[in-house]
Order: sequence, then structure tokens, then C-alpha cells
Amino acid sequence: MSRPEWVRDRVYIGGSWVPPHGETYEVENPATEQVAGTVRTATPADAAAAIDAAKRASAGWASTTPQFRSDLLHALSAALRERVELLVETLVAEVGTPVQLARSSQVGQALAVLDSYAELLPAFAFEEQVLHTRVLREPAGVVGAITPWNYPLYQLMAKVAPALAAGCTVVAKPAELTPLSAFVVADAAEAIGLPPGVFNLVPGPGSEVGELLSTHPGVDVVSFTGSVRVGRHVASMASTTVKRVCLELGGKSASIVLPDAAIEHAVSATVSNVMVNSGQTCAAWTRLLVPYSELDTALATAEAVAHKHVVGDPREIDTDLGPVISAAQRGSVLDYIDGALADGADLVAGGTERPDGLETGHYVRPTVLTGLSPQSRIAQEEVFGPVLVVLPYSDIDEAVTLANATSYGLAGAVWGSDAQAFAVARRLRTGRVDVNGADWNPSAPFGGYKQSGNGRELGRWGIDEFLEVKAVQMPVSNGSP
Ligand code: NAP
Ligand code: MG
Repeated sequence: MSRPEWVRDRVYIGGSWVPPHGETYEVENPATEQVAGTVRTATPADAAAAIDAAKRASAGWASTTPQFRSDLLHALSAALRERVELLVETLVAEVGTPVQLARSSQVGQALAVLDSYAELLPAFAFEEQVLHTRVLREPAGVVGAITPWNYPLYQLMAKVAPALAAGCTVVAKPAELTPLSAFVVADAAEAIGLPPGVFNLVPGPGSEVGELLSTHPGVDVVSFTGSVRVGRHVASMASTTVKRVCLELGGKSASIVLPDAAIEHAVSATVSNVMVNSGQTCAAWTRLLVPYSELDTALATAEAVAHKHVVGDPREIDTDLGPVISAAQRGSVLDYIDGALADGADLVAGGTERPDGLETGHYVRPTVLTGLSPQSRIAQEEVFGPVLVVLPYSDIDEAVTLANATSYGLAGAVWGSDAQAFAVARRLRTGRVDVNGADWNPSAPFGGYKQSGNGRELGRWGIDEFLEVKAVQMPVSNGSP
């Protein structure tokens, strides 16, 4: 089942495929536990060569017009669209995402983000006049992009598209667990004739290649998506060279069902949201807050909806949940569930048993828990598995307090009348709130309050991450500069 595109012994530096000097890494298919492909990894020396290539390409790329860069982003999008089937298969194999979701979310949302930047660029305000000052927003330089394994193509695109749009050049380091989709981006970049060095790909261990990107004086911005633990470490390493660090970290988002909401719809949507990509979604609504008076209805609904989710082979069209990414991740998710049960939580659905008939693969049952303290570990920490915690509240003030009472603040949902839900959304210390299941918007900012991060991706906010601001003061003569 392996494809030739899943065996990679070169990395992409300065517009050429060059042999790197690291070890060959086996990419596991988490559904079969078999080797899906192999990647020869980069060493810090290879990554340094990529940074040099990006630096050499920097001035030329920065001097192109927004229209030129927009045309190339459109071309990149077209080249990736020619490779959609390969991308879908790759993401099913390396992440274990069910094929329908891989198509709509892993690939579809990545392309939507890329297209949004191609469209936004021609009208983007790179310059403005403030009294006698011309304010220039200029490319920050070389961007180091460090991405995780849960939505590898999307997360890469949420950095590469705005960075290229801004006029920056990029050195990308995908997660070792899921490097294969990033190679398809490099293939597409080569196919469209993106100037050499504008996009470079150096897969390799975070502790080596990631650290090099974070410390190297030739990198101007590190854009990092991943865990709080590693994000903190990246920021502290980057402080030596005072480079800019944009962090997109974890979450423990709340879905608040207000007393006037259509409870069954809200609960059902929340359960489904948590189960997307087997719970490995940073913005997942992993805490469901319901009024005490509605708790029984909420639990009955959550149990029924969890049971309807089909766990199985991600290549099957009817599968809702594939495996989690690795044996270690499965172990960690099961530990959270075991710990909660040991603390007296009630199991509403799921649990630590293997799903029926799935003896191979890192599968976890869609799990719903209740009867635990909002301060308990599983109600505070990011599980990154298909696990929902249901917490009752007595009034709206308590719901808001509970929603805000974690160290995270990435996303959230509110259900109820639009006006009341909007008023509650204002009170949440979080970067994004979906009211009544509103659609995803690829041009709206995404990022975290508190320990969920300090950056904003997507839309014009995503470009700002990669721009420096220069004030050119012009002498005032005859009234105007
Ligand atoms: P992770 O362990 O923090 O890894 C993220 C990236 O950092 C990987 O490419 C990793 O490389 C690299 N890395 C590891 N150690 C490093 C080091 N010492 N220096 C520099 N880079 C290093 O996170 P993960 O387990 O892959 O992903 C899950 C986490 O990402 C969750 O917490 C999730 O919430 C978060 N996430 C956040 C967002 C968001 O937009 N806010 C989106 C998706 C996911 P290797 O793994 O290859 O070693
Ligand atoms: Mg990791």
C-alpha cells in the first residue's frame, strides 16, 4: 500500500533535492501499525544550509510585487489541487484521519487558507500615511516554521501561505510522525517554479532541527505550533537572538449550552466536534458546560451520540474516528481516562477497552465522562484524544467562570439565542468563539489567549506575524510630504 511518494531520501534546499545527513525515519501508519513510508532526515548542518538558502533568496523575494506573489500562491494552489488524491491518501496514511475528513479538513481547509492569501494579497495595505510619516510594512526575513502532527498540511499552510504572502522565505520543519504531506508541498513548489530558496523543507527531530531553527541568528521569525511545553522552550531558546516567536499552542475549550438553547442539538454538535480527528484538534470543545437542570438530558444525548460514532479503518468512507497518532498517544489518552475513573468520575460512554473488532491500530473509544471536579486533571489538561468532560453549572456567571478557569484560551462555543450567546462570547478569555455552530471562516484570526499562545494565524492577522514595521519620516514642506 506504500506509494513511491512516501519514500523520500532527499530534502528540499535552495530549489534542489539534496541528500541530507540524518537518519532514515520510518513513518508509521497508526491504523495498521505498519511502516507507511520512510524519510531520510536533516541534521542541524542541513538545516543551517536551508537557512542560508532562504537568506540568499530573501531580498529577491521581498522585492516582488504583491500581485506576483499572489499569482504564485494561486499557482501553488493549482499544483496542490492536481495532487489532491495523493494528499488525501497521504494524510489518511500518516495521521490516520478518516478519508472524508482528510479530504474536507486536512486538505480542503489547507487549500482554503492558501487561496485566501492569494486573494487577500493584491489589496493588502503594505503602506500607509500617518501625518508626515510613511509607514512601510516590510517582510521580516527568514521564517522557521515548526509544525505538529495532527493537521500537518493545514498547519504548514497556515504558516507558509502568509509568510510567502508577506514576502518572507521559509524553512519548514514538519513533525517527525507526519512528514510525508509536507514533501508534496515541496513537489508543488518545485513544479510551479517558485524561486529557489523561497521554500525549504528539512524534516528532522525537534530536539535537533527545531532547536537549530529556534536559535540560529539567520532566522528572523519562528512560527511554532505544538505543545505548551515545547513552545515555552522554543521561546526561551529564541530569546538569545531576540527573534520574534509566534506560538500556537494547546487548548481546553468550553462549549457552553445556555438555558434557552436547543439542548440536544448543542450537545450532539459538541460531542461530534470533540471526536473530529479522534480528538486530536487543538481547538476541540473538550468541556461541555450545561445547566444542572439539563444534565440528565445532556448525558443521555451525549451517550447516544458517542455510540453512533463509527470507529475503524480510516480508509472507509463511513468511518468517523480513526486511530490516534501513536501507541504513546493512545497510552497517554487511556491514562487520562483511567485517572479520572480512579478519581470517581462516571463513565457515560466509551472507556479504555479497545473498540470491538479492532485488535490492531491505536484506536480509542469515543469517551464521555462526568461527575468530576472542574479542577480535576482531565478537566484542566489537554487530553488530545476522543474524550469529552461534561460539567454542570448553576447560572451563567458560573458557566463563564468555569469556561475561563483553565490555563488555556484557544476556542469555545456558545449555544442559545444569538444575542445572549454573543454577550457570553464577549466574556470568554479565548481567541475564537463559535455561536450556534457557525461555519469556519478561513479569513478570521485564529490563536490563543493565555497559555494557548501569543500569535494569530489566518487572514490579515496571519500576514502581520511576518511583517516588520518601518516609519519613514518625511520633512514637511509646502504642506505635504
Ligand atoms: P510538540 O511535541 O510540541 O511538537 C510540535 C513540533 O515541535 C514538532 O515539529 C516537534 O518535532 C517540534 N519540537 C519538539 N521538540 C522541539 C524542540 N526541543 N525544539 C524545537 N522544536 C521541537 O507537539 P505535538 O505533540 O507534535 O502536537 C500536539 C500539540 O500541538 C497539542 O498540544 C496541540 O494542542 C498543539 N496544537 C496547537 C494548534 C494551534 O494552532 N494552537 C494546532 C494544532 C496543534 P518532532 O515531533 O518532530 O520531534
Ligand atoms: Mg511530540
